[in-house]
Amino acid sequence: MIILQTPKKLSNPIALSQKEKIMWMARLLTKAKLVGERGEVPIAALILDIKGRCIGYGGNRREAMKDPLGHAELVALRQASWINNDWRFNDCTLIVNLEPCPMCAGALIQARMGKIIYGSEDPKRGALGGTINLAEHKSAHHNMIIERGVMEEESKKIIVDWFKDKRFLSRKNLLSKLR
Ligand SMILES: [Zn+2]
Repeated sequence: MIILQTPKKLSNPIALSQKEKIMWMARLLTKAKLVGERGEVPIAALILDIKGRCIGYGGNRREAMKDPLGHAELVALRQASWINNDWRFNDCTLIVNLEPCPMCAGALIQARMGKIIYGSEDPKRGALGGTINLAEHKSAHHNMIIERGVMEEESKKIIVDWFKDKRFLSRKNLLSKLR
């Protein structure tokens, strides 16, 4: 029996300095805050190509589009695949302020994303280590490089503050209705 194997394409994402990672993450956090002000969970993502050029950006727009697939990572992926003219991202880097959920982590594995950089871990829904690590699951046919904790505290604060504000506002609304 002859077994034909397609050679695995090696990932070669750009090597970013710590300063560059912080620069991109800080920019994402500014964008994520704006996303939060629109009533969406404050998450933003971008994709860099092999030369470090931003080829995709996405903010969470699940509420605005009434779209369960409207997560920041998927919005950025769609834009980048149009620019890239390919669905493979072996040489690209995705940066996001919160650890991707199972849907996005699965999509990033399918897209053969070379590297993922994220800010805060998500112990409730994270799928790159927070609750499950899909990148190391036996179904993952592709090895992604994962870097956690870039501007971790700031990334965490944005999410925590947003949920705190939301709870405060809904309590305030409820109280005003009771009066
Ligand atoms: Zn997601």
